[in-house]
Amino acid sequence: MHFDTLSVHAGHIEDGIGSVMSPIHVTTTFERDENGVIGGKGYVYTRWDNPNRRGLETKLAKLEGGEEAFTFPSGMAAAMALAQTVLEPETHIIIPDDCYHGIAHLVKSMLPKWKISYTEVDMIDTAALENAIQKNTRLIIVETPSNPMLKISDISLICRIAKSKGILVGCDNTWTTPLIQRPFELGADLAFHSSTKFFGGHSDVLGGCIIIKKKNELAEKIREYQVIGGSVPSPFDCWLLNRSLSTLSLRLERQIKNAELIANFLKAQPLVEQVYYPGLPDHPNHDIARRQMHGLFGSMISITMKGGEKQAIQFAGNMKLFKHATSLGGVESLIEHRRSAEGKSPRSPENLLRLSVGIEYIDDLIEDLAMGFDRLKS
Ligand SMILES: *Cc1c(COP(=O)(O)O)cnc(C)c1O
Repeated sequence: MHFDTLSVHAGHIEDGIGSVMSPIHVTTTFERDENGVIGGKGYVYTRWDNPNRRGLETKLAKLEGGEEAFTFPSGMAAAMALAQTVLEPETHIIIPDDCYHGIAHLVKSMLPKWKISYTEVDMIDTAALENAIQKNTRLIIVETPSNPMLKISDISLICRIAKSKGILVGCDNTWTTPLIQRPFELGADLAFHSSTKFFGGHSDVLGGCIIIKKKNELAEKIREYQVIGGSVPSPFDCWLLNRSLSTLSLRLERQIKNAELIANFLKAQPLVEQVYYPGLPDHPNHDIARRQMHGLFGSMISITMKGGEKQAIQFAGNMKLFKHATSLGGVESLIEHRRSAEGKSPRSPENLLRLSVGIEYIDDLIEDLAMGFDRLKS
């Protein structure tokens, strides 16, 4: 079945009374069957499994094209699950040099205690990647487009290098979703997401997930981590996410269309120094993006302002529709001065703003931005 059909129908849980839409099963515990068999009716205890979580995981596995999905209460909880199941003490992980700052923080400040070392690499530089590989490297994290510089790395090339050394590749597919980018078809072993972003799509639920290409021993370890480690999302959050996924392609297609028009508008603005958007033909990795993202370039744009940090922060507060707030992927448009959201070790340029383009009517969005630029001039 097509992605759009799966996103509506996959993972529907029958409840015996013909509910067309899945109810929310808030119960923590389930009755045994007539013979006292535990789990005889399908479920035991909600930390182990719950109809809403099972439905969501079934849908996520189908959409990403993997054999099994595991859901978590946030994207960071999913990243932690990945680290704690793939990596053993005395092993090594490679992360991109402009990795999502939370994951970089986790790798740099929480994993060393477990004797797990790391190297940061510019994933576009394959020689640097090959150099960074050590005998004990177990996992390479790929994030493309990167955050916030929108660098595009070549997933299949990285996977070929990793495969030749027996290293797993985990792709943070948050910014693209499987509608745009299909890591498993390019050789990745694992995909993970902050479901808080495009999957949730309405900025009202936190979530995370890992999808594994093949049901294997690692899949069992991730399941054990989830249910014994107790890192489980609530039935209500699963229900919300499942509902949101039904409209993923409708939302994202509109967001992408809006983003392309806004990227071109921004490019023509005299106060803008540079526009970072992989859909622009002069983006340095536009050709890889065109192939890898199936001609859909996402709805995230970064810009740098000629007037420096002060002007950037002022501009971010100038609009009515574009709210100055962190996060991304929702139906509403956001703009953010990234550097001031990056905590103690910021790395975004001082004059950089990141835009998450929503589903609003394009003329209203452009007018909002135009007003923001006008206010800078006056
Ligand atoms: C937001 C985000 C995360 C972290 O997810 P949370 O749901 O905030 O915990 C990880 N990776 C990327 C690319 C993100 O944008």
